[in-house]
Amino acid sequence: MENVYIGVDVGGMSIKAGLVTENGEIIYKNSKKTNSVIGGAEALLKDTKDLMIEMIDYAKNHELKPLAIAFGIPGVVNTTKGEIAYACNLHVEDVPLKDYLKDLGLPIFLSNDANVAALAEVRFGAAKGYKDAILLTLGTGIGGGVVIDNKLFEGIDGKGTELGHSVIVVDGHECGCGRRGCFEAYASASALLELTKKEMINNKNSIMWDYCSHNLENVSGLTSFECAKKGDETAIKVIDTYVKYLSEGILNFCNIFRPQVILIGGGISNQGDYLIDKIKAYCEKAHYGYSHTPKVEIKTATLKNDAGIIGCACLAMDYLGK
Ligand SMILES: [Zn+2]
Repeated sequence: MENVYIGVDVGGMSIKAGLVTENGEIIYKNSKKTNSVIGGAEALLKDTKDLMIEMIDYAKNHELKPLAIAFGIPGVVNTTKGEIAYACNLHVEDVPLKDYLKDLGLPIFLSNDANVAALAEVRFGAAKGYKDAILLTLGTGIGGGVVIDNKLFEGIDGKGTELGHSVIVVDGHECGCGRRGCFEAYASASALLELTKKEMINNKNSIMWDYCSHNLENVSGLTSFECAKKGDETAIKVIDTYVKYLSEGILNFCNIFRPQVILIGGGISNQGDYLIDKIKAYCEKAHYGYSHTPKVEIKTATLKNDAGIIGCACLAMDYLGK
C-alpha cells in the first residue's frame, strides 16, 4: 500500500481533485464543474463530497492509502475552524467544509489557493531547493503565497499574506477589497487588460486594433505582449507601465522579506523570459529595493495547473509531519 494525499483545487469553474504521492506525483485526477453560483454552499459541499468518495474508492481499488484531504480555496479561509470564510468567485461564505466531510474519516486541512501553490513550487517546482520563497499569481486578482524557512506563513486563522492588497498608489485605482491603489488593481491580468483597452482608445493607430479585429472585447492578456514584440509603440508603453507597477510591488516584497526567490505564476507568466527579463531590469535599476543587499531571484512558476493539487498534498504532509 502506498500512502497518498487527496489534493483538491477549488476554482470558480471547476473543482479539481487528485491523488498525490509523497514525491508530488499525481497518480489519478478528476474534476467536477463548480455549481455554487446557482446551488450555493450546499451544491459545493455535495459535489466535493461525491468527488472525495470517488477518490477514496479509486485509492482502495489501486492499493493506495489516502492519509488526508486538503483544499486550496480561492478566497479567505479559516484554518482553525476548517471553513471557507469567504470566496467571491465561488459566491459562498462560511462554508463548514471540515465538519461536512468528517464522516469520510480522514483529516481535513485547507488553505488559500496561492498559499498551497507556493508550497508546491518550493517542494517540487521552480523554487525547489530554496527555503524562503514568494509566489505571486497574476490573474483576475493577485494571489500571494509566502514560504519562510520551508514552512508556509499564513497569519491568524490562515487569513494573512494578501499581497495583492498592499497599496502601491495612495488614492489610486479602486480595488475590489474597498481600498484604493492596491497592487492587484495595477499588476493583475485584469489590470493589464484595462490598461491595454485605455491606451488603445487613446491610440487608434496601434496595431493592437488589428490584433483584436477592431473589437475591444477581443482584447486579452496577450494583446499588448504580442504587439509589443512586433514593435508597436502603444503596446510597448502598456507593457512598460505594467512592468513598472508589477516591479514596484515586487521591490516592496524584496524589502519586507528578502526571500531567495520570487516566482511569477498565472497566465501572464507564460510570457516567460520576455517578462522576467523586463522585471529584473527594472528591479536592477532600483538595486532590488536598496543597495548592498543580495539579489532576489525572479523566475516563472513551473507547476502551472497542477500546482494547486500538489500544493494541497504538501500542506497535508506538513500538518501530518510527513
Ligand atoms: Zn485591494
